[in-house]
Amino acid sequence: MATPLLSIRNLKTCFPTRAGLVTAVDGVDLDVYPGECLGIVGESGSGKSVTFASVIGLVRSPGYVAGGAIRFDGIDLRSLNADGRRGLRGRDIAMTMQDALTALNPALRVAEQIEEVLLAHAMDLPRKGRQEAARTRAIEMLRLVGIPAADKRIDDYPHQFSGGMRQRIMIAIALSCRPKLLIADEPTTALDVTIQAQVLDLIGDLRRELGMSVVLITHDLGVVAEHTDRVAVMYAGQVVETGRTRELIDRPRHPYTRGLIGLIPRLSNLDAPIRPIDGQVPELIGLGGICRFYDRCEFRSSLCRTDIPMEAVEPGHHARCIRAEENLQ
Ligand code: ADP
Ligand code: MG
Repeated sequence: MATPLLSIRNLKTCFPTRAGLVTAVDGVDLDVYPGECLGIVGESGSGKSVTFASVIGLVRSPGYVAGGAIRFDGIDLRSLNADGRRGLRGRDIAMTMQDALTALNPALRVAEQIEEVLLAHAMDLPRKGRQEAARTRAIEMLRLVGIPAADKRIDDYPHQFSGGMRQRIMIAIALSCRPKLLIADEPTTALDVTIQAQVLDLIGDLRRELGMSVVLITHDLGVVAEHTDRVAVMYAGQVVETGRTRELIDRPRHPYTRGLIGLIPRLSNLDAPIRPIDGQVPELIGLGGICRFYDRCEFRSSLCRTDIPMEAVEPGHHARCIRAEENLQ
């Protein structure tokens, strides 16, 4: 396989809280290859957003990255200072946030927000007439993401757009500098189903057109099934299964992945009732010494009372379960 564009090894990110030290990300390994779309899926609270906030250096204080290595395009991201990181963000790596309304600046017209990114990062804007060139490019970006009457609407404020249009604007801002990697954090969670499909198709089209890699973060395995090449399933701060999307959905090896599939009627048997996964994600304090899914797992045994490593079940397909080789039903 090619060299990964982004490579994360043994990442650990913590938040000191009154209840104790929360380890939100605990030993995560991930690779993103050039041009691919990697899905990150798991219930709310499994550490998806914190993993990628760690990558782009935006973990909120008092949280901190406690260990691990993050390499992007040959650069060791953890060794970069704040300026170096800022330079990388928006130019080579762009991330769209879960909530478009709070991520966009309500006090600035859309034009100003896109132009600001372009003026800071786009190297190919002419020196003379830079401002006009940035405006022209900003309008092009809005057209690219399917905003009607882009040349007029560019002077509107974020609140004048619908939720779907705001997500598109955020994608336009993220793509303004042609990043090598787009991290889209729940880009469609707040949108209705039709708009959801449009935004996801748009991201897919742009990925192919611009040749970039995409990380698509979602709690919905149905979205992953339709829009990604590979997937990593996260649970309680760890990756518990990775593989090619089709293979992982056809032959899931971790009971948690099976649970997620059971939540989506169109992926499993259409007549089967939707079965929620009983129980809750454990508190991320002082975990270890036992499988994190133990309390919720119908296949648990005394052998699971230890830290379970990721093991290959087939080339390119790994799972963190001692019974991954068995065909559990
Ligand atoms: P996901 O994106 O998978 O829904 P997150 O990555 O946002 O989950 O968060 C994972 C866990 O990290 C949360 O459930 C919480 O326990 C912890 N966490 C995240 N942010 C903070 C914070 N600012 N302070 C304390 N704990 C946090
Ligand atoms: Mg999140």
